[in-house]
Amino acid sequence: MIKKKRHGLFRRREKWPDPTMCERCGALFEKGRWTWNKTDEEVYKTTCPACRRIAGNHPAGYVEIRGGFFYDHRQEIVNLIENVEKQQKSERPLERLISMQDLAEYTLVTTTGIHIARRIGEALARAYQGEMNFQYADGDKQIRVYWERD
Ligand SMILES: [Zn+2]
Repeated sequence: MIKKKRHGLFRRREKWPDPTMCERCGALFEKGRWTWNKTDEEVYKTTCPACRRIAGNHPAGYVEIRGGFFYDHRQEIVNLIENVEKQQKSERPLERLISMQDLAEYTLVTTTGIHIARRIGEALARAYQGEMNFQYADGDKQIRVYWERD
C-alpha cells in the first residue's frame, strides 16, 4: 500500500535527469523544463509526457465544437486550430494536438495539454465570436472547452 502511494506521488511530479531527450519527438528536458533545444551533451532517453499521451490516446484537453458555422467553414477553422498548435508547441513542447473526430453531436478536438485547449477556444472566439466556455476537471489536470456558433 505504502509503496503504491509513493509511486503515485512520484508520478505526479515526475522528474527526469538533466538532460533527457524524448526518443520519439526529440524534445529535450533540461533545467526543469521541456524545450526544443539541441545539445551536444550525452542525454538520458525517455518518452516525453506528450508523446505518451498521444501513444496512449490519453488527452488532457478536450475541445467540443458545435453549430452549423463549423461545417460551413471547416477548412478555415482546421487551419486556425493547426496554427494555434504550431505556435503553442514551439513555445511549450508538451502542448500538442492529438486528434480531431466528428462525433454525432459535435466535433471533438483532443490535446496533450490543458493550455493549448484553452488557447484553441480563445482563438475560435476571437476569430469567429460565437460562445466559448471551459471547465477544468481532475484538479486542473484536465480541461473541457466548448465553442459553439450556429
Ligand atoms: Zn516526445
